[in-house]
Amino acid sequence: MKELQERIMRDGKVLSASVLKVDSFLNHQVDPRLTMQIGQAFAKRFEGERITKVLTIEASGIHFAMATAYTLGVPFIYAKKKKAITLSEEVYAAPVHSFTRQETYQISVARQYLSAEDRILIVDDFLATGAALVGLTQIIKESGAQLVGIGAVIEKSFQEGRGLLEQAGVRIESLARIQSMSTEHIEFIEPASS
Ligand code: 5GP
Repeated sequence: MKELQERIMRDGKVLSASVLKVDSFLNHQVDPRLTMQIGQAFAKRFEGERITKVLTIEASGIHFAMATAYTLGVPFIYAKKKKAITLSEEVYAAPVHSFTRQETYQISVARQYLSAEDRILIVDDFLATGAALVGLTQIIKESGAQLVGIGAVIEKSFQEGRGLLEQAGVRIESLARIQSMSTEHIEFIEPASS
């Protein structure tokens, strides 16, 4: 997605070989116009898939799920993150290990909001190690719903997330795919044509 790649080049800050800071427009201060365009781009890429709900994880995925779901005319759900492992019969839950924070937390979704009739699109800000997204796919599997695919705003293609999810047969659409990055330069996999 051209506008997104240009914005990453202009305002993104590479903090280390693996961490990209985008909090001036994507995940702290948020550009609503770009966010809506991102939602439209995901809706277009998954057109015809009869999606019934969009699923994300709090907090940085919420506005992208909102923009996508609004464009598709369906509800969105955000999985909640909890430190304490308090399993309840009323939720689908999965553990997620955060490599950046070196901690394991639990994500959960109330059972009443996912059913075997649902066709789910997952949307999130980053695809990095894939741990968070794998957790969401486990929740979908447990609910019996159909996973249509994953929309990632930024994919760090040099990390293992895509490979992991593709192995499980999941369709992935990323709007900006970073092949490599350093403090001097960010290299994208696809040209900024669309
Ligand atoms: P995962 O490693 O599970 O794919 O990514 C988990 C979460 O970590 C992402 O949803 C995102 O919020 C955060 N994250 C991963 N890599 C980066 C990064 O390079 N920059 C920022 N700002 N967040 C990241």
